[in-house]
Amino acid sequence: MATMMMMKPAQLAQRGAFGRAAAPAAGGRGLSVRANAAPKLVQKAEYIWTDGQEGEPHKGLLFNELRSKTKTFAKENGLDASEYPDWSYDGSSTNQAEGDNSDCIIRPVRVVPDPIRGAPHVLVMCEVFGPDGQPHPSNTRAKLREQLTPKALEQDCWFGFEQEYTMLARSGRPYGWPENGFPAPQGPYYCAVGSESVYGRPLVEAHLEACMAAGINISGCNAEVMPGQWEFQVGPSGPLDVGDEVHLARYLLHRLGEDFGIVVTFEPKPMVDWNGAGAHTNFSTKDMRQPGGMDAILASIEKLSKTHVEHISQYGLNNDQRLTGKFETSDIDTFKFGIADRGSSIRIPLPVQLKGYGYLEDRRPSANVDPYNVARLLIKSTINM
Ligand code: ADP
Ligand code: MN
Ligand code: MN
Ligand code: MN
Ligand code: MN
Repeated sequence: MATMMMMKPAQLAQRGAFGRAAAPAAGGRGLSVRANAAPKLVQKAEYIWTDGQEGEPHKGLLFNELRSKTKTFAKENGLDASEYPDWSYDGSSTNQAEGDNSDCIIRPVRVVPDPIRGAPHVLVMCEVFGPDGQPHPSNTRAKLREQLTPKALEQDCWFGFEQEYTMLARSGRPYGWPENGFPAPQGPYYCAVGSESVYGRPLVEAHLEACMAAGINISGCNAEVMPGQWEFQVGPSGPLDVGDEVHLARYLLHRLGEDFGIVVTFEPKPMVDWNGAGAHTNFSTKDMRQPGGMDAILASIEKLSKTHVEHISQYGLNNDQRLTGKFETSDIDTFKFGIADRGSSIRIPLPVQLKGYGYLEDRRPSANVDPYNVARLLIKSTINM
């Protein structure tokens, strides 16, 4: 547009509404038109994927960060992922490839409106594939797809993901905390209102608004026990949807944090002696949701008691710092279940106990857990084993 501003009105008149050279008038004499004029670009698509950042790569223990880059289109594609082409990126910069054969492929799997750029722009959640066309070892969504057996699909599994997170100032201190020293001890902050207890609400509100505009099934949000710590919930949704939407919601939180000058971390234990950040996962099958479903809930808990070690090994990096048996957690080495017990590994919420059916809450996953891994393990342990 800058060049357009500098043009005289007479020059402008020769151009189309958007500054493109106008087509020569029929029979016009020798007007030169640039061949292969660049197409008018109308849509920005933010391709988002998970990297292979940390932990023990390829063993499911990794902790993924989100990465993204923008692709422009000359036509407005819709919300169907099949309208968006595969793309590639340099996997050697994301801990997913060696330098000598570094291209990884991103394949769109879920498209939502981009609430930050506005229509017609979109966010495009992708799966990662290697140069051989096979799912990349870090592609946990593909591993989840493998667990969606007829038996699992028949159970129409629902997941409600409670994503806790901590806001940090650029200094690395929790947002709103004094640079030296500490706020008053925890107690007043959970679900609080008022400037003395609540730090960072403008970002929380912007994030809620953005998730709703993007069509993410965000069910709510609340201030947490540690000041500067917050939670939002996604679900109940199916296994792939909940994972896609948790990643998209995390992306929006990081992205909006840029505008607010707030760093968002999903570290499980940012501050010792304060509550950590988890990702309680509420889970139900068709059998659990029917009257009398308590039997199915208890049967699943019995199965989960036998796979505790496998789940813990993939329930998030540094989760051992959080699951200490204190601060409303269970001890990492002990499987414990209870009704309305916030010190348990698996909790049956009180309303579920009273009704006799509903869902269970797995309180073990840490805030930085890969949601596809949690869904995969819960389905594997309770349905496919
Ligand atoms: P808490 O009391 O542990 O803080 P929240 O209200 O934060 O619980 O979160 C509960 C989550 O459980 C929500 O995301 C909600 O959508 C989800 N949920 C509700 N019913 C079911 C169900 N039948 N199956 C799975 N998830 C469910
Ligand atoms: Mn480049
Ligand atoms: Mn909650
Ligand atoms: Mn919480
Ligand atoms: Mn919970």
